Amino acid sequence: MKNLLGGKGANLAEMCNIGVPVPPGFTLSTEVCSAYYDNNRNYPEGLKSEVEAAIAKTEEVLGKKFGDPTNPLLLSVRSGSRASMPGMMDTVLNLGINEEITEGLAKLSGNPRFAWDSYRRFVQMYGDVVLDLKPVNKEDHDPFELILEAKKEEKGVELDTELSAEDLKEIVAEFKAEIKKVTGHDFPDDPMEQLWGAVGSVFGSWMNDRAIYYRRLNGIPSEWGTAVNIQAMVYGNMGDDCATGVAFTRDPANGEKIFYGEYLINAQGEDVVAGVRTPQPVNDSTKSDPSHATLQELMPKPYQDLVDIYLKLEKHYKDMQDIEFTIQKGKLWMLQTRNGKRTAEAAVRIAVEMEKEGLIDKNTAIKRVEAESLDQLLHPMFDPNADKNVIATGLPASPGAATGKIVFHAEDAEVWVEKGEDVLLVRTETSPEDIGGMHVAKGILTARGGMTSHAAVVARGMGTCCVAGCGAIEIDLKKKTMTVDGKVLKEGDWLSLDGSKGEVIEGKVPTIDPELSGDFGILMGWADEVRHLNVRTNADTPHDAEVARNFGAEGIGLCRTEHMFFEGDRIKAVREMILADDEAGRRKALTKLLPYQRDDFYGIFKVMHDLPVTVRTLDPPLHEFLPHDDANQQVMADEMGITLEEVKAKVESLSEFNPMLGHRGCRLGITYPEITEMQARAIIEAACDLTKEGINVLPEIMIPLIGTKAELVDQKKVVVSTAEKVMEEKGVKVNYLVGTMIEIPRAALTAHEVAEEADFFSFGTNDLTQMTFGYSRDDAGPFLKEYTSKGILSDDPFQTLDQSGVGQLVEIGVQRGRQTKPDLKIGICGEHGGDPRSVEFCHKVGLNYVSCSPYRVPIARLAAAQAQLNNPV
Ligand code: ADP
Ligand code: MG
Ligand code: MG
Repeated sequence: MKNLLGGKGANLAEMCNIGVPVPPGFTLSTEVCSAYYDNNRNYPEGLKSEVEAAIAKTEEVLGKKFGDPTNPLLLSVRSGSRASMPGMMDTVLNLGINEEITEGLAKLSGNPRFAWDSYRRFVQMYGDVVLDLKPVNKEDHDPFELILEAKKEEKGVELDTELSAEDLKEIVAEFKAEIKKVTGHDFPDDPMEQLWGAVGSVFGSWMNDRAIYYRRLNGIPSEWGTAVNIQAMVYGNMGDDCATGVAFTRDPANGEKIFYGEYLINAQGEDVVAGVRTPQPVNDSTKSDPSHATLQELMPKPYQDLVDIYLKLEKHYKDMQDIEFTIQKGKLWMLQTRNGKRTAEAAVRIAVEMEKEGLIDKNTAIKRVEAESLDQLLHPMFDPNADKNVIATGLPASPGAATGKIVFHAEDAEVWVEKGEDVLLVRTETSPEDIGGMHVAKGILTARGGMTSHAAVVARGMGTCCVAGCGAIEIDLKKKTMTVDGKVLKEGDWLSLDGSKGEVIEGKVPTIDPELSGDFGILMGWADEVRHLNVRTNADTPHDAEVARNFGAEGIGLCRTEHMFFEGDRIKAVREMILADDEAGRRKALTKLLPYQRDDFYGIFKVMHDLPVTVRTLDPPLHEFLPHDDANQQVMADEMGITLEEVKAKVESLSEFNPMLGHRGCRLGITYPEITEMQARAIIEAACDLTKEGINVLPEIMIPLIGTKAELVDQKKVVVSTAEKVMEEKGVKVNYLVGTMIEIPRAALTAHEVAEEADFFSFGTNDLTQMTFGYSRDDAGPFLKEYTSKGILSDDPFQTLDQSGVGQLVEIGVQRGRQTKPDLKIGICGEHGGDPRSVEFCHKVGLNYVSCSPYRVPIARLAAAQAQLNNPV
């Protein structure tokens, strides 16, 4: 139903079906939109008569007539695509009205102010949306808002509810004059003409820049199209027994089970979201300011109806709902429901609590949380013990901690981030035009707007930290400053935001690592029960190993030894080794490195006791360890007691045209076996020492970049003979494995041969991607961007595994490897090991584990569980 009617239309229909009061209406399906675009922006045949028939039916239900001044039916025209795209496309309310009808409506309702307010709103929305008067640039003012503001000033009132029918009538005339001035045409009076104008505009908005940007951001195909919902109006602007509002059935920021909403008396539609007036809380329990009046207090009966309906909707959809409602003369109408957007924190809590309430089962709970979104919970938080100067407090609209430089314009945010700055976007309020800047900002701060304001909703959807409605700040866009309590902060000043507490903090605040406790821990436990894949981590230091282990890593899938070569004095020994002219010279330098490496492994093995640790022997080309500028080459020459020329000559001799395909990986160990020997000795010595201390160590030595079985045979011989020797010296036995990375296409193709020598395989999908595509990973950035934006590639293959190409090599490697050794242990240690889609692929091809960076371990655990639920084995 959703595909055809769009999310909004489908849910309106479903609410009708379960007996929730919804104003009558009908939906033009997404197929009409597709036909419209396929047919050069022309409507399909027969649409007109079908629409007329549907209007007739709506008229019959309500006993009103579209275009009839004595008893007019007014309509709302609303867009709605399959996936919800908040604020992306525009709604027109009170359609089917003109002066004559307004007079009729005034008479009928006995409320001229309401009638003229409705007409005023219609002319404004129609002018903005359909006739395109809405300014494109944020700096330009909406001409209608200017007229409205001027009129309020002239009449000496602050709120638009204080304007009289006469005032509104004048405003309408001024609006129309403005439209005539800009477009050269009279404002359309004919209701049918208005309707088709609005329908065309909804379809047209599917292809506006904002919508296109949002689709690209969220991977929504443009073929889906939008539906158009045409619905009878209900009026929240008929007086003080009327209202309009939005609510969440649970708190979308932290997931707490409280009904949470905001509303405005005597208002319509977008007033709540747009921040025209400050909305009030719906219920008493969420009221924080005693001067506020809740719906519960003022309209107990419709409030109770609202509570009954939200409970019914949550039970029906079995998920947290985001609802929109209007009260017309004490009668409640529902205008929208959908599964509410939420932060990762809220998603986890809601999933776990709904399982406990018996609303959903564990497997559904696991599937409810988007694995990638956990990223939000895994980033450092502000250290609660740090000194911080809280300069203002707003609403905790979207949790997280963010530090960045202040910018006041969304476009500036994009420019600054492009230059590598961290920014916080500070605005009075945000609007859909700001979406690009909001996306790149580390955090968002607004002076106005509530928990359901545009900034709050979009920030939660993006997982960006947001403090909204911080009334204490005053923004001067011209001077690019914000003032709090007399303190002036300029563009570019550092500021921090705590989105969980709503705090605005001066300067930078130190951070600490998060923990997997509470509901997060419970959900992870459920995921662990379900998943088949093991999850390891890529870690090179005891600290990283510990972080990963706390996040649930079940081993190390890749420990890179080269990073250890750079620290402190070691680099000197490394350079000495590289400079040596013969084996004896190299051995002398390697002897200096041995104790360092042994200590490194000792530390890592100790943290990872009882879990496997895969250590890769030296991989990068040697020139990476040499200095490349004169000054540093001179330092090196002085240290080594040789001339600058000699250093330059060595650097020169090691330089390669194509280092990534040059002398690296096992090729180094084959040329200089003493390097592999030293590394094997360091690994096994550390393992023996720990074994003696009673600590269980499971080292797995991994040879990189082999393309033939013979390369592995060569290196394995060095490792095994060294290990035997060390164990004899130390007088203990350790169980160790020798395996290889599969990262050269030839190794995957000959996996059945390689497996004869390997105890395990680990797919190095970074190099495998590089070599399969023939893209240099270090040079591909600029053109890959172009490739993805032109649709030549759907994703960056270095981020998401290319399943149809590179994936085939993985499959072949698995299948041929296990042809030789049915129980061969196989993992993946490329960047892809933490990418949910790639994790699903790894599950499907039967890998034993994925390995990813420490902070992505929980993401991989959840993704592995979801992979099993979607593809049970
Ligand atoms: P969006 O997708 O931006 O939320 P909607 O189509 O939901 O846009 O419309 C925005 C608001 O307009 C609604 O929240 C509601 O308050 C108001 N609205 C829409 N349809 C009607 C209607 N039939 N009667 C009264 N108000 C309506
Ligand atoms: Mg809506
Ligand atoms: Mg590699």
